[in-house]
Amino acid sequence: MNFNYKNFTVYGENPSNCPHCHRDIEPIQISTYAEKDICYSIWKCTFRECGKAFVASYKITGQRTSEFVGFLDGTPIAPHWPEIINKLNSKFITTYMQALHAEYLGLDEISGMGFRKSIEYLVKDYLIQRDSSLEGKIEDSLLAKVIGENFTLSQEADLKDLLQRATWLGNDMTHYLKYHDNFDILDLKELIKLVMDEIHSIEQKRHYIANIQSKYKK
Ligand SMILES: [Zn+2]
Repeated sequence: MNFNYKNFTVYGENPSNCPHCHRDIEPIQISTYAEKDICYSIWKCTFRECGKAFVASYKITGQRTSEFVGFLDGTPIAPHWPEIINKLNSKFITTYMQALHAEYLGLDEISGMGFRKSIEYLVKDYLIQRDSSLEGKIEDSLLAKVIGENFTLSQEADLKDLLQRATWLGNDMTHYLKYHDNFDILDLKELIKLVMDEIHSIEQKRHYIANIQSKYKK
């Protein structure tokens, strides 16, 4: 698409999916409006059963260039939640989804902090569910300390390594100084996904090893 801004024709890439139905589409452009280096363009989804209108925002980056920032409406797609995560009595999923929504709206400074907070809920609530004697003891402890002290078994080594790295990146997005320049919010989300998969794997292994006993005669 092209739009006019300060007497220049600026190019912006057409959205290629719909923020409501999440299908890959070639949407129809309805109108555009640009001010203060931001362009808002209204589109209509071409998928028959959706057909909803949505607004895409673009940051004007040069005399003729702009960059897609995000949609102003619709919903982000949630990741797959393993069953153990879904059943966990925790604010993890709610917090993660709020962070995802912030990211989706282009609020990248806020979303990183939200993902960091979601990791804290996941770790502490998972540990408490596993061992109720930890309740009242770990909630106000530093996350790094909780991770370091509680995932000590050899089969939890990968989980611990992944959690530490997720926390480091999350801290970068929460505090003033950033220490890991080559990694961003996509890496943090990938680490959280790996953490969920690792927890799922550990719990499934525990379940089968504990519950299937040998029936062979000794
Ligand atoms: Zn749609």
